[in-house]
Amino acid sequence: MRTVFAQRLSRMGVETAFAVSDDARAWAAKGHKVYPLHLGDMNIRTPLNIIEAAHKAALDGKTGYCQAAGIPELRDAIAADAARDRGIAYSMENVSVQPGGKPIIGKFLMTLMQEGDEVFYPNPGYPIYESQIFFLGGRGIPYGFTMTPNGFRINRDQIEQAVTPRTRIFIYNNGQNPLGAESDDDEMQWLAKFCVEHDLWLLSDEAYFQIRYSGKSKSIVSLPEMQERTVLLTAFSKRFAMTGWRLGAAIGPKDVIDWISKLNVNQESCTNHFIQYAGIEALKNGEAGTKEIVKTLKERRDVLAAELRKIRGVEVYVPEVTFYLFPDITDVYTRRGIKDRQDFRKDALRSTGVSFCSRSHFGRAAPNEPRTYIRFAYSGIDTDQIREGIGKLREYWDTF
Ligand code: PMP
Repeated sequence: MRTVFAQRLSRMGVETAFAVSDDARAWAAKGHKVYPLHLGDMNIRTPLNIIEAAHKAALDGKTGYCQAAGIPELRDAIAADAARDRGIAYSMENVSVQPGGKPIIGKFLMTLMQEGDEVFYPNPGYPIYESQIFFLGGRGIPYGFTMTPNGFRINRDQIEQAVTPRTRIFIYNNGQNPLGAESDDDEMQWLAKFCVEHDLWLLSDEAYFQIRYSGKSKSIVSLPEMQERTVLLTAFSKRFAMTGWRLGAAIGPKDVIDWISKLNVNQESCTNHFIQYAGIEALKNGEAGTKEIVKTLKERRDVLAAELRKIRGVEVYVPEVTFYLFPDITDVYTRRGIKDRQDFRKDALRSTGVSFCSRSHFGRAAPNEPRTYIRFAYSGIDTDQIREGIGKLREYWDTF
């Protein structure tokens, strides 16, 4: 039988960073040591009180279906938590519980994007935005960032030139993967004004809101006229080291949230029932756990940054959010003389065991992008391994 696949599949992207995992796994399978700095998963265990709450809920029989939008106690707790941290009001009706943060991207677009609508998305950025926009028939308009002494800044001119009457949606990931970019007040206010002026919906991906090493996270939803046009993507994944549990929530205006929950009826029926009780425990008694997680990540960040700075020709800005570093390695890349960035990445893996992602795993680079960056994730590797791995990388890269 000849299989004719649905045409829409050709518009879907995949998380190409998984190809890096395949390379790392294949190299390890041959008996080589690998330093996993490529994938944003965590090797930190979920706090015990959260695991116990899930266990208890399962024993108590919370193993059947539940409401598509999530159990009311969890929706309530999520609304209160999001409202408190952002200084605005939310109630349970504004919350749709989801199996992770990721599904919110597609469901948000399914709810608010018409075919042919233009959608701004970050590039480099989390690759699922681009994939879902095109898969669902939208026209993705990438926007970039510029390195400044205070971190990466959104290219405002590029956005102002690219906006048209068909632009409907802006995807914003403050505390950004892969750059660790974070808006200052001026940039956030500019973006809010831009969204209001052009009557845009905003998806504010706040997956890393709580992964912060100093200062306080701010949300654009707190700015005037933004709550009515913003859907928040929130997740338990990083905050409570629960990546594999699959628990998150879309938070936004009630009518939008109702449609998002109806998509759940069609797709999952509901988010895992007993895991939602773990979510309640996490929000009630999880703060100490998050503190520990952030402390561990901060130690890793500082070690990684210090080790990278010892390498000739590596420049790295150290952000206060996320668990990524995005160093500029143009000088090393040029010295090495390999013309292909994937070959350069594989060369480092084979020569040192250090596995990282390239800029191209976060969207296609514009032809005129002058610098070469790579991404290190330090969420899945301990400090001694970071020291050892980056030490080997330095020895190797210093040879040319
Ligand atoms: N948004 C961003 C920016 C992410 O980096 C990720 C996961 N790495 C997600 C959303 C999805 O998170 P989750 O694992 O909760 O689905």
